[in-house]
Amino acid sequence: MEINRIQVYKVDLPIDDGPYRWSGGNEVHYFDSTIVRVETTDGLCGIGEICPLGASYLPSFAEGARVGIERLAPELIGCDPTLISVLGSHMDNLLKGHPYVKSALDMAFWDIMGKVAQMPIVALLGGRYGDVVDLYRAISQGSPDSMAEQVRRYRKMGYRRFQIKVGGDPDTDIERINAVADVLHHGDVLVADANTGWLPHQAVRVINAVRGLDIYIEQPCETYENCLFIRRNTDFPFVLDESIVDVPSLVRAISDNAMDVVNLKIGRLGGITKTRQLRDVCVSSGIAVTIEDSWGSDVVTSAVAHLAHSTPDYARFSASDFNSYTSLSTAVGAPVRIDGTMVAPSGGGLGIDLIEENLGGACLDIR
Ligand code: MG
Repeated sequence: MEINRIQVYKVDLPIDDGPYRWSGGNEVHYFDSTIVRVETTDGLCGIGEICPLGASYLPSFAEGARVGIERLAPELIGCDPTLISVLGSHMDNLLKGHPYVKSALDMAFWDIMGKVAQMPIVALLGGRYGDVVDLYRAISQGSPDSMAEQVRRYRKMGYRRFQIKVGGDPDTDIERINAVADVLHHGDVLVADANTGWLPHQAVRVINAVRGLDIYIEQPCETYENCLFIRRNTDFPFVLDESIVDVPSLVRAISDNAMDVVNLKIGRLGGITKTRQLRDVCVSSGIAVTIEDSWGSDVVTSAVAHLAHSTPDYARFSASDFNSYTSLSTAVGAPVRIDGTMVAPSGGGLGIDLIEENLGGACLDIR
């Protein structure tokens, strides 16, 4: 079997409760997502998606993803898509770095592999742990009252895990954390995610001011070293996200005891293959994981569900369902949130089919 066609779609995802705001005054009104469709000589097709969080969150951006895919795609025509690791090495040889460019392609190869095997990706990854995957809801940065109100509203929809966007003015962030903590119930989980937005002195102030609350602190500062300094000066359970970009950065952080939880974003790491690699290192090291991505629609959410559901439940902190943040469906068969949880689809591969009329025409068609 060979790849004989790669199509690329640019899809603008509206945000139902937009705009979405996080640290540093960043704001996004819609998400520019890229979906790839990889066809084979056997008539199979695999799909993947990459949706950066704007251009200023991580070193990735939507146009860059498409230009990178355009560069790699001709070199993939004629290759066997089921040789997933071999193709990963091939892409790394053709284009150094830029893991987000390769993420959607790797996802599509896994989708094809699952269709060949007639097994869902969750089964190829070793099988399901537990009946459902618990989801978290990201709460866009706003006034303390509006964030508490959002948490109340999403709680009624079934979520029990909340990741509030702080990383702004420390005085306001202290109010944000207190206002949200006030509306939580027993058993709810609250993560204050600064998304690299605090300098160490600001992080220390906020952490000292909210001492006594039952919360997690996530990625307070931009550099790993500054995060480690905060980690060593707080008793709060600690999450790293943006600082963990590959196996070496993860191994270093584990040996420094730099966190209790790692958020693994598929696009930041370069696809399902590499996310599984880091996930497995975390699980074997007693580090809990959140499986997620920067953003995305039904395709990314399905990939997240397969990875999350195949993660041992004792090490699974949470997962994201970004397809429920947007009214635009890109595929049928994707996970649907029920009471703050989702399950991995059971069809072959990702277990979903593109809704082509919702994608517009392909912006690239490489044969
Ligand atoms: Mg985060």
